[in-house]
Amino acid sequence: MGLSGLQIYKLLPRTNCKECGFPTCLAFAMKLAARQAELSDCPYVSDEAKAQLDAAAAPPIRLVTIGPESRKVEVGNETVLYRHEKTFYHEPGFFYRLSDTLSEQEFAARLKEIADYQVERVGIDLSANGVAIENASGDAATFAARVKQAVAAGLPVILISDDPAAMEAGLKAATGNRPLVYGATAENWEKMAALAKQYQAPLAVRSSDGLDGLAELTAKIQGLGVEDMVLDPGADGWAESLKRLTILRRLALKKNFRPLGYPIIVFPGRAAEDEIEEALLAAQYVAKYAGLIVLDHFDPASLYPLLTLRQNIYTDPQKPIQVSPGLYEIGEPKPDSPLLVTTNFSLTYFSVAGEVEATGRPAWLLICDSEGMSVLTAWAAGKFDAERIAKAVKQNGVESKINHRKIIIPGHVSSISGELEEELPGWQILVGPREAIGIPSFLKNFA
Ligand code: SF4
Repeated sequence: MGLSGLQIYKLLPRTNCKECGFPTCLAFAMKLAARQAELSDCPYVSDEAKAQLDAAAAPPIRLVTIGPESRKVEVGNETVLYRHEKTFYHEPGFFYRLSDTLSEQEFAARLKEIADYQVERVGIDLSANGVAIENASGDAATFAARVKQAVAAGLPVILISDDPAAMEAGLKAATGNRPLVYGATAENWEKMAALAKQYQAPLAVRSSDGLDGLAELTAKIQGLGVEDMVLDPGADGWAESLKRLTILRRLALKKNFRPLGYPIIVFPGRAAEDEIEEALLAAQYVAKYAGLIVLDHFDPASLYPLLTLRQNIYTDPQKPIQVSPGLYEIGEPKPDSPLLVTTNFSLTYFSVAGEVEATGRPAWLLICDSEGMSVLTAWAAGKFDAERIAKAVKQNGVESKINHRKIIIPGHVSSISGELEEELPGWQILVGPREAIGIPSFLKNFA
């Protein structure tokens, strides 16, 4: 929440000297409020006013970066409470907690499992983000050795220790990784803040005195010059954590309350009875409002749905993921291979392409520009009709690539087959299945 034009005006010199290019200070203030001018255009603004205006222009939830440049995780800088208001920008990072009591080999094996896991969904590669290494051994050298292993694997790391000496050993071992220091408490905050500052690492802060205690701590730590912080709200169960995370988001966005304007770290395993509950709780945190989610159990069976959920929630609802329109080859289609048509919504494309591929039978897949909408939505919006399909057939030179004149349309738009016959004289319009899953049996019967 920035300042209004009038609030900004009160901070300007109010001499109307016009050097900023505007006739009055008020006009300049209005432009600043609308972010259509730069404060530096006024040469007379005082340092004090500058500091106030800069602070007001800062995002209500600070953007915090963790990890090496190549795999960095950026969290925070969200601007809305509800995704449908605009969008959520920085998806939460999934980190897996590993104890430094694991042997070197065991640790390496767990690390590899986490680092190697990758799945593709709607053309986008999804993976876990990093590891949180816990100094359960209590030994600084052991901690540093495990941190080194994780850093060598190229993963972003969170260093978990309450002991400043062990933390420093971990930070030294994590050079170039920009790890998250977890964390500062009422007991150790000065030492942890000094380390975070020295090693230029973000600092997680937790308090056993609720949100008031947390706000007090962050204010004190900020006073020592540490800007990048992450909050552990300290509530773990379903209802209490939802309440606290929601309060934090509201305070930051609606009240512009700076001491709690930071991304949030959560540990669903702390309250969960088993790994299934841990995954379910993590799902709640994806929706509301975690920045970093540290899990205890690595299992592709729970990570995949979490990654899918995260992808769905962090996709801009105004910009559906799309594929480029065109004629796609599935396998190595021949002139007599079947031709299917659908829309350019990514999920639609990948569902259809995946099912066709699974049949092992090469085919042509014509993707119409439906502005990224799925079949039924596009049809209802007039973006996937006979005219558009016929245009796509012509634009993509389909007639020169196939020797038959049969086109399979999605079952959901069977009603356009008559119009399509008119648009494509000489063509046979075949109504395919409603859902992509029906494609294999449909194609089996396709002559
Ligand atoms: S340059 Fe500064 S003082 Fe002069 S009119 Fe613009 S805002 Fe006002």
